[in-house]
Amino acid sequence: MLNTDKGIYIHIPFCASKCAYCDFVSYAGRDSLIESYFEALFRQIELFPYDWAVNTVYFGGGTPSYVDARLISETLEKTARRFTLARDCEISLEANPNSLSPKKLEIYKKAGINRISIGAQSMDDDILRLIGRAHRRSDTVKAAENVLKAGFDNFNLDLMFSLPKQTAADFEDTLKAAADLGVPHISCYSLTLEENTPIYRLYEDGTYSQDDEIDRQMYRAALEILASYGLRRYEISNFALPGRECRHNTDCWDFCSYAGFGAAACSFIRNTRLETTGDIGEFIRTFTEGAGEWDAASTAYEETAGELAEDYIMLALRKASGLNESDFSARFGEDFRKMYTDIIRETVSEGLAEEVGGFYRLTDRGFDLAGYVTKKFL
Ligand code: SF4
Repeated sequence: MLNTDKGIYIHIPFCASKCAYCDFVSYAGRDSLIESYFEALFRQIELFPYDWAVNTVYFGGGTPSYVDARLISETLEKTARRFTLARDCEISLEANPNSLSPKKLEIYKKAGINRISIGAQSMDDDILRLIGRAHRRSDTVKAAENVLKAGFDNFNLDLMFSLPKQTAADFEDTLKAAADLGVPHISCYSLTLEENTPIYRLYEDGTYSQDDEIDRQMYRAALEILASYGLRRYEISNFALPGRECRHNTDCWDFCSYAGFGAAACSFIRNTRLETTGDIGEFIRTFTEGAGEWDAASTAYEETAGELAEDYIMLALRKASGLNESDFSARFGEDFRKMYTDIIRETVSEGLAEEVGGFYRLTDRGFDLAGYVTKKFL
């Protein structure tokens, strides 16, 4: 059966300071714009032209927990007025450990937020300092305790690996310390080097390098250690207790439509991908100077059938469950096995993929070489 679930993403682009690896659209030291940004955001939400029932709302950033919690409540109220939120709607909010006070958690809870995602990144204070994070290990421990005390049983910790000066043993310590907090979901991402960031300059002058073999060793440690806590991999970078998988992200990997609001937010609506300007000044001007359309500050691109199929494959292969062959046929009117006979045969015989019950999925070895396998289909 085709999945027709829809989601909402809301981008809050403010942070206390800029991390050394960060290339996201996020601003530090622009607090004077916060109120006008939210006014523009409310206007953009009101202008959305479709009557959607949605299953998930996701506040991402930036650091949504950095701004006054009242603004998050108001945004959620406006969203609930413009959309029909499912009774069991998953409503997530990204937070940094040092801006997640018990008072804010109380306000979030009252507003209807039911999932908190904490940007822990590492449990090693020296590494946190090196990558320019504003918090320390003790802040993450406190934040997790506060989240549980406030009654959120659905929460995530984000971790990173292949960080400067990080050894495999350091990352194993981080994994265990994070899992020991009783967290039901952990995301683990290898550091992506982005140009024009302070970390990239360390890489350029040779102070820091990434080693593929150590990177894979760290990834395999995550798989093993998190499994011992009952956190199973359900997507290449995401691990959860059964029933605690992030629905918002799962819907995106399942090719569902989502609408994004705020500067730099992306949307995927009926074959069209939209991206709102990342220029916060332009975003505010557009929606406070009487814009008549919700996508007035966006660029839109309608994908061809071939591009859609490639996106679908790329996303499906990220999931542990893999690509649903009958869903592919229903969406694209093509038989996946016939279209890609040679690639399927080759990857299965190399031990990179397997076909199980109508699904084509990567093996453990395939996940290690996911980029290589995916490229074959593009
Ligand atoms: S908190 Fe997140 S969004 Fe903000 S600067 Fe750091 S990495 Fe970027």
